[in-house]
Amino acid sequence: CEQARTPHIRRLDEAVVNRIAAGEVIQRPASALKELVENSLDAGSSSISITVKDGGLKLIQISDNGHGIRFEDLPILCERHTTSKLSAFEDLRNINTLGFRGEALASMTFVAHLTVITMTADQSHGYRVSYKDGVMDGVPRPCAAVKGTQIMVENLFYNVAARRKAFKNPAEEYGRILDVVSKFSIHKIGVSFLCKKHGDSRADVHTLASGTRIDAIRAVYGPGVARELIEVSASCKDPSQAEFEMEGFISSANYSAKKTTFVLFINDRLVECSALRKAIEVVYAAILPKASKPFLYMSICLPSEHVDVNVHPTKKEVSFLNQEVLVEVIQKAVETKLMTSNTSRTFYTQT
Ligand code: ADP
Ligand code: MG
Repeated sequence: CEQARTPHIRRLDEAVVNRIAAGEVIQRPASALKELVENSLDAGSSSISITVKDGGLKLIQISDNGHGIRFEDLPILCERHTTSKLSAFEDLRNINTLGFRGEALASMTFVAHLTVITMTADQSHGYRVSYKDGVMDGVPRPCAAVKGTQIMVENLFYNVAARRKAFKNPAEEYGRILDVVSKFSIHKIGVSFLCKKHGDSRADVHTLASGTRIDAIRAVYGPGVARELIEVSASCKDPSQAEFEMEGFISSANYSAKKTTFVLFINDRLVECSALRKAIEVVYAAILPKASKPFLYMSICLPSEHVDVNVHPTKKEVSFLNQEVLVEVIQKAVETKLMTSNTSRTFYTQT
């Protein structure tokens, strides 16, 4: 057989490097949307409004009333690794913003067309500017605006044919977008969220800044869930075991859905934790009829130096110390809560 020839190693063009990296951060329309929502929250917004066309492939538009972007920062806004949130690696140990890598907006400009309209509190008008491949397309033009930022991401993956083809079903992508917005909207009470399809007058998610968490859950996940919520909490403050606090709402044994909804925030970050999900599902499996699944919302706070937020390109996972202990303590708390609320229901129905 013929021996393979030793290939030359070549340096990739920067444009190729950027597009490959962008594909990791922006995996699908919902990951772009998540980054945009996080930016609006980091900007201190109390109102976030989203419009989506074709499952986000044609357009994702987000408007917030946050602090806006300085005029002099617009030229570097969409360059890779430009951020207002982090300056030294050590800052990552107690970062209190959702973003920190300065990669999201840049990534979007490598795989989509991005336009920004922004106005800070001390400006009398806003600026509008578009970006392509990390740089401004022309100069920022003055325009009418209100304080805050509006970002439009158009034609996502227009230059990544394989990725674009992977999203055949815009309805499914819109579903994923709604999932992200729904989860943030019940966690971030005090912020009003609105999400709708372009051209629709009715919103698919709408919460008010003044509502309680249960109001938000009712508005987003429906009265059927809201009626059956039980408050849970758990904590451990023993440094030799684990240090955390958890607060949340879980559905009672009277509620059942086809699929588990697990809304999990760790230090205000929307994340997934399959170990915790499984541990709680086991508890419900023992009390719910087969194929019935619960609704779970949990917010966990850990000492920031115990959490590594930088383990996943889309930040959807974090790693933290003492995961086993935390899972066990929370599982116990859920079990106890369900048992006691179950007996009170039996008691209630008997009288
Ligand atoms: P990161 O969030 O990691 O800093 P991004 O690429 O998401 O990186 O954003 C780059 C910078 O742009 C942010 O650090 C922030 O200063 C600014 N920015 C982005 N979106 C907004 C927004 N909605 N309001 C105000 N500033 C924003
Ligand atoms: Mg960001």
